[in-house]
Parts: sequence; C-alpha cells; structure tokens
Amino acid sequence: MAHLRFKALDLANNRPKVQVESKGKISDYFASEVFGLPQMETLLSPDVYKRVKKAIDEGLKFDNETADVVASAAKSWAISKGATHFTHWFQPLTGSTAEKHDTFFDAHAGIEKFKGTALVQQEPDASSFPNGGIRSTFEARGYTAWDPSSPMFIYGVTLCIPTVFVAYTGEALDNKAPLLKAVEAVDEAATKVCQLFDKKVTRVKASLGCEQEYFVVDKALYASRPDLVMAGRTVFGHNPARGQQLDDHYFGSIPPRIYDFMKDFEIECLKLGIPVSTRHNEVAPSQYEVAPIFEDINVATDHNQLLMDVMSRVAEGHRLKVLFHEKPFAGLNGSGKHNNWSLITNTGVNLFQPSNSARENLLFLTFLVTTVKAVYEHAELLRASIASAGNDHRLGANEAPPAIMSVFLGSQLTSVLDELEKKGNVKVEKGENMYMKLGIDKIPPIILDNTDRNRTSPFAFTGNKFEFRAVGSTDNPATPMTILNAIVADQLTDFYAAVEKEIKKGTDKRLAIVGILRKYIKDSKAVRFEGDGYSDDWVKEAKKRGLANIKDTPRALDAYLSDGSRKLFNRLNILNDIELEARNEISWENYIMKIQIEARVIGDLVQNHIVPTAIAYQNKLIQNAKGLKELGVKNTQVLKVIDSMSGYIDTLEKEVFDMTEERKRINKIVDTRKKAIAYCDDIKGKYFDKIRYAVDKLELIVDDEDWPLVKYREMLFLR
Ligand code: ADP
Ligand code: MG
Repeated sequence: MAHLRFKALDLANNRPKVQVESKGKISDYFASEVFGLPQMETLLSPDVYKRVKKAIDEGLKFDNETADVVASAAKSWAISKGATHFTHWFQPLTGSTAEKHDTFFDAHAGIEKFKGTALVQQEPDASSFPNGGIRSTFEARGYTAWDPSSPMFIYGVTLCIPTVFVAYTGEALDNKAPLLKAVEAVDEAATKVCQLFDKKVTRVKASLGCEQEYFVVDKALYASRPDLVMAGRTVFGHNPARGQQLDDHYFGSIPPRIYDFMKDFEIECLKLGIPVSTRHNEVAPSQYEVAPIFEDINVATDHNQLLMDVMSRVAEGHRLKVLFHEKPFAGLNGSGKHNNWSLITNTGVNLFQPSNSARENLLFLTFLVTTVKAVYEHAELLRASIASAGNDHRLGANEAPPAIMSVFLGSQLTSVLDELEKKGNVKVEKGENMYMKLGIDKIPPIILDNTDRNRTSPFAFTGNKFEFRAVGSTDNPATPMTILNAIVADQLTDFYAAVEKEIKKGTDKRLAIVGILRKYIKDSKAVRFEGDGYSDDWVKEAKKRGLANIKDTPRALDAYLSDGSRKLFNRLNILNDIELEARNEISWENYIMKIQIEARVIGDLVQNHIVPTAIAYQNKLIQNAKGLKELGVKNTQVLKVIDSMSGYIDTLEKEVFDMTEERKRINKIVDTRKKAIAYCDDIKGKYFDKIRYAVDKLELIVDDEDWPLVKYREMLFLR
C-alpha cells in the first residue's frame, strides 16, 4: 500500500504549471453567460419586457404567450453561445443541485425548439430524490417550476433554468421553495413595520453575502485517502509537527498553484454573473476563503450552489480537489460559510445601517432589536437550521462558534440598548470616536467600524448587517436563511400588532414603538453575549441563562417539530406539518448515512490497511529483537515498542469488531430519529475517537516508508 502513497506524492509534487488564460477587463465578460433581466431588455420588445419585469417584480404568473416569447429569446441567445441543451436546475433535499438535460433539437421537425411550456414547467423523474415519504404517501409526482427571479445561465453547453421542485400535491421537495416563501414573509412583515416610519417603502428585500471557506488538496493525494473520497474528511491522521500554531497562513501569500486555481474559477464565476470579490488564505494551512458581493437572497443562494460546483469542476483541471467538509482535518480549524444578512428597502435603505438622524435610528433600532428578540425566541430553531453531521465537528469544538445561539452586538450598541432599556432614550449620535483623522490632508477621515469584532459569536452584528457565522461550509444557505427570515418575519408581525394595539389605545406612535422595543430588549437580554464564545465559562453562563446547548444533529433537529415551530411555519405558510416531518426524516436519514459511511471507512481502513501494516512492521521489530538477543545485546526499548504496538493493534481489532456488532443492532431500529441518535451516541461517540487514537499512535511508531496513508504534513503544505 505504501507504494501508492509515494506514487501519489510523486505526482503531487511534480505537477506541471496550469496556464490560466488572462481574460482582461472583468466588465468585458462579467455575466456573459447569463440570461436575466438586462439581457431580456435588449432582446425582447419593450412591451414584452415590461410585462416580464412586472411579472418578476410582483411574482405574477406568466401567460403562455409571454412565456413563449421569453423561451424563444432564451433559446436563440443560448444557441448563439453554443448551447445545445436546456435543463431545469433545482436544489433537491440531497444537499446539492440536480439537472436533467434535454436537447433543443427536435429530430422530427429537424430544428431547434423551446416552448414556453418547457420553460415554465417540467417533470423530472422525481422518484430518486429524497422526499421523506411525501410522494409515497400521496402517490403524487413532482415537478419543477421556473423561478424567474433568478436568472438563467449557460453551463457547459446547457442552458440552466433555476426552478423550484414541488410535489403535485403542493409540498416542497427542495430548498428553494421554502426560502422564497420566507423571503416573501419577511418582505410583507418588514414593509408594514417600515410604513410606520415611511409610507414610501413598499418592498423590503433580504440580502445575503456568503463567505465560503474551503480546503484544497492535490487530487492524487485525495484519491489515495479512501476516507476523504468516501466521507469527505480524514478519519485518521496524526497532527503535523507544524499545524496552525504559527498563525502564518492567515492572510499570508497564496501558494502559486492555488492562486492559479483561484484566478481560473473566479473567471468562470464572473462569467456566470457570480460577483466574487475577495479571496484569501484562512487560518489553517491549505484553507482558503472566497466571498462574493452580497445579492438578493435567492440569487445569492443559487450563486453559492453554483460557485461550489464551479470550484469543484475547475479544480479538476488543476489536478486539485476542493474540500467543502466542515472538518476535513482534526486539530485544524474547520470551515464555515458565514451568512451575511441584511434587509434593504425599495427606497434603498439598509435597515441595519445606523445613521446620524434620531428618526432613522429608531427604524434601525426597531429592526436590530426585533432580530435579537427573534433569535432569542427561536434559538433552537436557528440551531437546527445549521445542523449536519459535518457541522457537529465544528460547533462547540473550541475553534468555531459554539452550539449555543447568542447574539453579539459590540460595546457601542450594547450601551445604546442598555440606555434605551433604562431611559427610553433613543438618541444615537455618531460619536467622535467613530472618525479617525489620520492627520494626512489628502486622505479623508475614515469612518471606523462602530462595532468591535467578535470571532467567537455564532450570530454577530457587523456594522450594517448580521453575520450568521455558525453555518457550515457545505450547507445550502437556503436552509438557515429560510429560518432566519421566517423568525424575523414572525417577530416583526408581532411587533407591528403590538404597536397597532398601543396606538389604538391612544399612545403616541413613537412612544408606542419605544415602549415595545424596551420590552423586547428586557425579554431577550439572555441571548446577548459579548464575551468569548469558545470559553468553558460561557457554556456554564449560558446554562444559567437558560440557553440551549444542543451538541448533536439528531437532537438539534427536534426543534423543527416543536409545537411552537409548527405553529410558526404554519402561520407564515412556509412549511406545513407534512413537509416539516418529511424534512426531518430526510435529515435524520442523511445523518445516519453519513455516520454509517464513516464507520465503514474506519472499519475497512483499520482492517485492510492499518492493522496489516502495523503487524508487518511489528514483525520486523520482532526479528530485530530476536537477532539482538542472539547476539547477547540488551535492548529493552524495542521490546517496549513491540508491546505497545500489540496494545494498539489489540484495541483496533476489538473496537472495530464491537463497532460492527453494534451497527448490526442499530440497523434494526425502525424509528429514524432513534436510529440517528444511536448512530450518534453509540457509534460515533463510543468508537470513533478511541479507534482514531490508536491509529494515530501507530502512525508515529511505524516506519514512514511503510505507512499506507498520505500524512497530514504531506497533504497540507502544498505550494
Ligand atoms: P467582513 O465580514 O470581513 O467585514 P465584508 O464586509 O467584506 O467582510 O463582508 C463579507 C460579506 O458580507 C460579503 O459577501 C459582503 O458582500 C457581504 N455584505 C456586506 N454588506 C452586506 C449587507 N448589507 N447585506 C448582506 N451582506 C453584506
Ligand atoms: Mg465576515
């Protein structure tokens, strides 16, 4: 086996440079592969364009005639760019994207065709996508329906049409449908609240900017690690002598091979209209981040899914492999996908932007405080929205936000809220300290961020937006964003009703608003935390405050099915009971599968690679010991090594055997939730670390020449 490792290393260390073609000015090719409103404006008649825009803006149904015109224009445009096929592109509950390609070419007619009906609706063979029992219960089929609010794009030779995926009985079978509903709910609720301040506000849009973290390893090294291939993470591997202790990777210079890869995938992203804007190294070796400029939440979500796909595909050409897993390497930082979120009105006001004027600040404080209250009320739901087997390694692992949901506001805003709570004083002026004169005439004053940064908070206010930092790097942002927008929508609705009630009683509007905010601030105080979220003290403190700390996915998911959650989703018409239950089934099943795969990989690697290698090496030592004895040389150390190896080998044989037996028992459990919990507690909890410990010890003992798995130090310091 070891020869495979060295072959892989040889390949990895002698890669020829991949030439990345320079494309020149970004504005020359940005969105060149996109068919959205700007393209429609140039290609459709003004009349049709107006109808299309109205339908998109107001979420109206497309009449057949308009759909035909759009389809025809999209087809001609796509064909002119070399496309031959089209597909409805959707996000089933598998956690990735799906597509089924159809050709434009009609062999009977001998020409390319694309009708409005094919644009608007399709019926993919839905039986192979997870549905949590919905379709078998209702014996209904699923269909995909065009989402015109997200632009079409060409990928390869295929025109991709963003769609929702729903059962014929109406239940959502994807991630996009509930997100669209949640965004609608927050729009409606936020607009009403805004109108208390400004009647010109008729629409509020939720925005999202995703910071995507990832690791990159050489493809050959990846391929030689069955655990990476099967489970996306290394189940074994001793920490390298130099990990991230030196902190020298963060914002350090990017290794040339990675830099070429980044430039290459960024070009592809920009062509697809994904506004990627920043790239840098992350904390751990071989860890990086890419972030696009924020966009409308639905488009940003589609773009994030597409980005991940583009990255994986472009990496192929560079003989690299992108790891999106939340924790591919033990002992190093995990990866997240920070979801930067804000609400912006049709009048161009970011509702989370503090301002100079007291009146605008009351609006700002309304949204700030309502969001804090929403997080407080639904912390467990928010926790559930980021639950996954991968993210379990990250949350609460002392290097990522804990599984306790809390909000960080920064000292300035904290004192504002304290003031407001005590005195009802809402005057917030931009203080002197916000401007820093540099004393250089040519450089204007810099506005300092009015919030200090807290990297340990799962949900932090960062100047003009909230940053949901606990989201996992693999997650589809649609899920956490559905939940966040839903809970904020609900809280805003509550707020509006309370204000109305006060006003009816004759209270002055402004006083009514302040009064309710004060109450919210008091009620939700427990969820605000400014300290170190990674510390043990916080875990204790949070417990005292009554905040939940749910460490694992199977249990975190329960929050979706609580009475309160069911009512919330029903009230807002986002997910009904059947959908909620189906989704949880799928998530639990998914969790079981992930742990099952990891357990199998662990078992296989131990039995087929680790133990045979260890025994072979131990035999060499035994030969050596015997030889020494024959010669009359005293060497107790080699006997000690032989002995300790026996201990580890014995542990491995025993634990792997027991784990397999335990899995046989658990696999008989019918209830999905119980089975998921059993996998979590009785497989992952009882065996994974124990087995890993013994393997990692053996890695240190066995001759480097014989070790079958590519080591951490070999994977992580790619240049
Ligand atoms: P940092 O978090 O380090 O301050 P940035 O300010 O660059 O980084 O923001 C990170 C992400 O947040 C980017 O995707 C950016 O576009 C996005 N972002 C900035 N402002 C907003 C906003 N008002 N709403 C949503 N996302 C935003
Ligand atoms: Mg950030």
